[in-house]
Amino acid sequence: MKQFELQRLVRSNIWALKPYSSARDEFTGSDGIFLDANENPFGKKNRYPDPHQRELKQALSSFHGIPADQIFIGNGSDEVIDLVYRIFCEPGRDRVILCPPTYGMYGVSADIHNVEVIEVPLNDNFELQIDRILSHSATCIFVCSPNNPSGNSLHGIEQLLDSFEGIVVVDEAYIDFSSSRSVTELLPGYPNLIVMQTFSKAWALASARVGIAYASREIIALMDKTKPPYNVSAFNQQEALKALSRPEKYGYRVKVILEQRALLEKELKEIPVVQRIYPSDANFLLVEVSDANAIYHYLVEEKVIVRNRHSVVRNCLRITVGTPDENRKLLNAISNYNNQRR
Ligand SMILES: *Cc1c(COP(=O)(O)O)cnc(C)c1O
Repeated sequence: MKQFELQRLVRSNIWALKPYSSARDEFTGSDGIFLDANENPFGKKNRYPDPHQRELKQALSSFHGIPADQIFIGNGSDEVIDLVYRIFCEPGRDRVILCPPTYGMYGVSADIHNVEVIEVPLNDNFELQIDRILSHSATCIFVCSPNNPSGNSLHGIEQLLDSFEGIVVVDEAYIDFSSSRSVTELLPGYPNLIVMQTFSKAWALASARVGIAYASREIIALMDKTKPPYNVSAFNQQEALKALSRPEKYGYRVKVILEQRALLEKELKEIPVVQRIYPSDANFLLVEVSDANAIYHYLVEEKVIVRNRHSVVRNCLRITVGTPDENRKLLNAISNYNNQRR
């Protein structure tokens, strides 16, 4: 990593921000009569949640072996993305690099924050074009590995961390389905790295909206002071804690999804309208078919909903790995489409 000075990259209003101090910040004991937060004294859901999510951070810290003060918990990954823009990207001035085809929220969030996007597309193998990225100057880059929608893990992230002058955000929403190692291992050497993960995919908690960021203590402190005080509800914190307390259930589900991914890949290959299946490190397959729009609409009629990615990768459908029963129904439906056409 080149000379790194965090303050140079942080918006001056955020660097200077004095955060809101909640009642739960000022008195942190658990014993006593609480007349400090204007809560209703009656009921069971009447108290504000822990604004620092201490218990959840501790559980994640034990699970991943990452210090609790290097963990941020957000209201979904969307909040983490939003905070990166709020902290590092001055509207109308700073620029961000995105590498399409990739997750759409990085670009939507850039538009919301009025931040200019420089697109440096992935190459034909859906890999980063590092030299082209480094020829631009920008405050942040978002990369997604394994990437949505292509499914592959990206090479060259360490090289990017070594040479890029700004913040490198690596979105690892699908890391649990990958044979590659998490780049959280690189955190000690790279103060410019932010790693995003989520409870929405491998932990089967999309409805709870719990996203995670791992980064340096200094970056996590900036995220914590910039977020809304009670950004993650007590119910959602509890759901995430419950999931973490059952790692064998998580492991079993991931194992079944990986077996099903292999099966789906093998059987899809046999179907004539399927032209190509991209290698996947995620819980979905990017599948090139003869006519994505037609097959997408046909599948909808058969009540099988996949994601039509034709507008981003020509004639491609993104198919999430479902239960064994769901996958069987998908395979039957696509096979029948083929029979109809012949
Ligand atoms: C699904 C997904 C997420 C998860 O977002 P949440 O807001 O945590 O549900 C994050 N990044 C990518 C690339 C995804 O595909």
